[in-house]
Amino acid sequence: MNQIEQLQEMIDESHNIVFFGGAGVSTESNIPDFRSADGLYQQQYKYSPEQIVSHSFFMRNTEAFYEFYKEKMMFLDAKPNPAHYKLAELEAAGKLTAVITQNIDGLHQAAGSKNVLELHGSIHRNYCMRCDKKYDAAYVKNSDGIPKCECGGTIRPDVVLYEEGLDSVIIQKSISAIANADMLIIGGTSLVVYPAAGFIDYFRGKNLVVINKDTTAREVGASLTIHEPIGEVLSKICC
Ligand code: ZN
Repeated sequence: MNQIEQLQEMIDESHNIVFFGGAGVSTESNIPDFRSADGLYQQQYKYSPEQIVSHSFFMRNTEAFYEFYKEKMMFLDAKPNPAHYKLAELEAAGKLTAVITQNIDGLHQAAGSKNVLELHGSIHRNYCMRCDKKYDAAYVKNSDGIPKCECGGTIRPDVVLYEEGLDSVIIQKSISAIANADMLIIGGTSLVVYPAAGFIDYFRGKNLVVINKDTTAREVGASLTIHEPIGEVLSKICC
């Protein structure tokens, strides 16, 4: 039995699948991982991506933050890929209960997924830091320099920056979903981002599957590991 057949068999016998995904899920939609900085980019920005996407940098250098954020993290033309669509299909078929994602691009919802737990927030939610008025992603992307509210306040994305804590409600829901799952599929992540990496320890189900193009940094004791692009793998699966 090949790996796809094994994966299919596991999905067939599961009724409460949870998917946990990282940047690799979005790269097949042509959204590059903002952490994968090349030399050119280092020259252009002088700071590392992690420094720029931090709370203190946002507060002190808001304009430079937005220059980077709009160019490297907001891809409003990106479309869901076969991984997003298959997960939405599995949810609609009553097989999958939750998608937990480290991505902020909203592509799971665009593909039709309903229960999406966004650990790091979303580029699609933005709010005025003074009056809390909400703004969409296009407003932020198309603004000149720092996006401003009609009240004059600065708008910030509802995205978890470095130095900031994750939303405790989202954490609780994620842990609960994983703890109740009979199958956990981890895709497109090297599992090094804390505290997300620790979530896996709550899984008590039967089938733990890792699908990642690159070698997974953390050994999680998966029953099946597939080193292929996640969209390619999931496109071969039937609900
Ligand atoms: Zn305002």
